[in-house]
Amino acid sequence: MVPAMADTSGPDSLPAPAFGPDSEEMLRCNRCELRYVPSKSTSSLRLTYCSFLCELGDLGFSIAGLEHMEPQPKAIEAPAVDLDAQAEETAEPAVVE
Ligand SMILES: [Zn+2]
Repeated sequence: MVPAMADTSGPDSLPAPAFGPDSEEMLRCNRCELRYVPSKSTSSLRLTYCSFLCELGDLGFSIAGLEHMEPQPKAIEAPAVDLDAQAEETAEPAVVE
């Protein structure tokens, strides 16, 4: 993936950047303030954070995690069984004569 071509054609061989010279604009991470290429960011907010770790650290959660995290549905309690109703009827205080 990483081209390991050493370009020694120029007299002053500057260290070639890993990304294209004018392919993409570098951004500064909102958290760690590192400069990064947005397309290489693992964050869902790649225009803001250099990686999902910074996103996670800054927000306290990750957007990607939220997408997969669904609120637990409340356990719906089963409706009262008819036996209870009958029990209540039979539980009426009997009039003692
Ligand atoms: Zn960062």
